[in-house]
Amino acid sequence: MRLLVFSDIHSNLEAMEACLAVIPAHDLLVNLGDVVGYNASPNEVCERVRAMSGNIVRGNHDRACSGLTDLGEFNLVAAMSARWTQTVLNPENLDWLRALPQGPLVHQELNGIEFVHGSPRDEDEYVLNPSTAAANLRMPGHAEKIFFGHTHLQGGFSLENGRVRNFAPVFPTGDDVVEVTMPLARGERHLINPGSIGQPRDGDWRAAFALYERDGDEPGAVTFYRVPYDVDQTQRRILAAGLPDRLAARLRAGR
Ligand code: ZN
Repeated sequence: MRLLVFSDIHSNLEAMEACLAVIPAHDLLVNLGDVVGYNASPNEVCERVRAMSGNIVRGNHDRACSGLTDLGEFNLVAAMSARWTQTVLNPENLDWLRALPQGPLVHQELNGIEFVHGSPRDEDEYVLNPSTAAANLRMPGHAEKIFFGHTHLQGGFSLENGRVRNFAPVFPTGDDVVEVTMPLARGERHLINPGSIGQPRDGDWRAAFALYERDGDEPGAVTFYRVPYDVDQTQRRILAAGLPDRLAARLRAGR
């Protein structure tokens, strides 16, 4: 079974298309939300995501940009982008965003795997440190492997014998498509983040996604990918839309 996991595309058309051009063969695609927000191609990205078969959970930007929640918890730049997105989304994409399901998503054919935007206990929670990860990994009634997004940080956390360990792939820098495969140990519970396609925040500007592969009841392995894309073009779109400069600058820095 080969499961492709996308998250946090954030209206970045160039990053998404670069990823789609190199995705490996897979049986199923799951999208962890935040299709829109921040960047300047919300309609194009919604249309491409809608055209792809697969499962999806909503993110906080999907809610805010479609008017389901107010912008009170957003910082100024995120709120400006959400307001701009609300004005440019066409009615079909707006309706589609409003109807996206809240996680956790449990796929019938995928035993022991769960999909969320933020965390299993709260779709808006940031799982950034071992203590937050531990609280979620110790919750009864949740899957052994939980794929999450929201932090835009590729990697995750494992719980074994009560101890939480943080893991993250290490890539060579540069302009190449790169991948790192990390086997998952038996007997551990995992929170796994594929990283963000449209706005990575781990210091690497390249778009991020992940492929999870397993055979039968093996724990399997996650392959993390980084994909270069035309950042200059994404930045030009952001500035042409009148969105804050900061949203363009941060893409090149990967922050
Ligand atoms: Zn996000």
